[in-house]
Amino acid sequence: MTAKPHKLNILEDKRFSCHSCGNCCRHWHVQLLPDEIDRIASLRWPTGDPLGGQTINMVHSGQTFLAHKPNGDCIFLNADNGYCRIHEQFGESAKPVGCQLFPFSMHRTFGNKVSITPRHDCPSVRQNKGDRYKSNQLSKLADIVLEDARPFSEQQRCNLDEDQIQAIVDFLSALLPSLPTVAHKAMFLYGFCDWLGHQEASELDREALGGLYQPLVNHINKWFEETDASKLRKVDRYTLANLLSMYLRRDEDVLDKRVGRIKRAASIVFFGSGKASVNALGSMYPTGSGKSNQLFDKTHDEKLDLSLLDQLIKTRLQTLGFMGAANHHLDLLDGLRSLCLLYPMVIGTARLFTQTDHPMDHAIGAIDHAFGRAHVLRTSAANRLVRQLLDPDVFACLMVSIS
Ligand code: SF4
Repeated sequence: MTAKPHKLNILEDKRFSCHSCGNCCRHWHVQLLPDEIDRIASLRWPTGDPLGGQTINMVHSGQTFLAHKPNGDCIFLNADNGYCRIHEQFGESAKPVGCQLFPFSMHRTFGNKVSITPRHDCPSVRQNKGDRYKSNQLSKLADIVLEDARPFSEQQRCNLDEDQIQAIVDFLSALLPSLPTVAHKAMFLYGFCDWLGHQEASELDREALGGLYQPLVNHINKWFEETDASKLRKVDRYTLANLLSMYLRRDEDVLDKRVGRIKRAASIVFFGSGKASVNALGSMYPTGSGKSNQLFDKTHDEKLDLSLLDQLIKTRLQTLGFMGAANHHLDLLDGLRSLCLLYPMVIGTARLFTQTDHPMDHAIGAIDHAFGRAHVLRTSAANRLVRQLLDPDVFACLMVSIS
């Protein structure tokens, strides 16, 4: 029996064309699928081409990646024009699937449906610059990448059906941007998760959601009245910085041997305690970027374009890119809770980059790079930090203090 073809869900208002900045060929290690290792190694380069006879891959923890040059560039990056040498010489379809897919991720949602989430670590995605997404090309890649993928399980859906989940997505993505401050948005989402956790699946529909808006806003206002920002404990600030270091640390430096494991581990501790700047966690971050004690410093907030943060949250919501395979296989509720934390994470990170022209743009790229992907965020240590920050007293205090 032939499998039903995938049905792609692509956001209508999104655009992307590659502008050859070369970022994704420098700051990533592309993992090769088992059948690609020999295929890429046996590409026939013209006589005398420096790529002929080069070692094209590296193995780390049993996985195979494209090799990098000592300066961190992918072995196939043409530094003169920012193009991929495989693409130039043999065409796009000769590249590894990971390279062809970037800057998109895709995951099965309901039945044979597939959602396409654009990755904000690509500057062209952040600027929404270029053409409509090429559905034919994405469809072919979905057949390869999602061959064994399963749709959301009952448990991941929190026993809700597709219409109910769509109603939640519509409700949140319409209302969140309309709320006046980052703190209101974060607390609205947080309060919504609290409500959802106590809701019977059979009672959740658009009418129930329609009646929720005003009581939830009243609840948030009461929350703000009762929250004393000065009560945010030192330990909670430290927890935020520690979780942030898990989001921001870039293992490429270690894989490329630009920094040793011990030095990197020390940088994480120093960043958490406010003694190291963010580029100790990743050499790709601007030099002179801030230290974790700047996370709560509002001095340069006029430089932060908060609409970019709204767009990130909305994109993650509308592509269901906060749950299931897109986010460490979290269920709907925990996936929404993980979005709550994006608010303090992105605002705090933007403050670390205030010496750049577009601090929010940098912050969104850096945080979305790890969101749902970084293995370190799956560990029990990371879960402990998340639970601590999402404690009701701590989260309200955190949002009032940071925003
Ligand atoms: S980061 Fe985006 S724009 Fe830059 S080379 Fe990669 S796909 Fe192209």
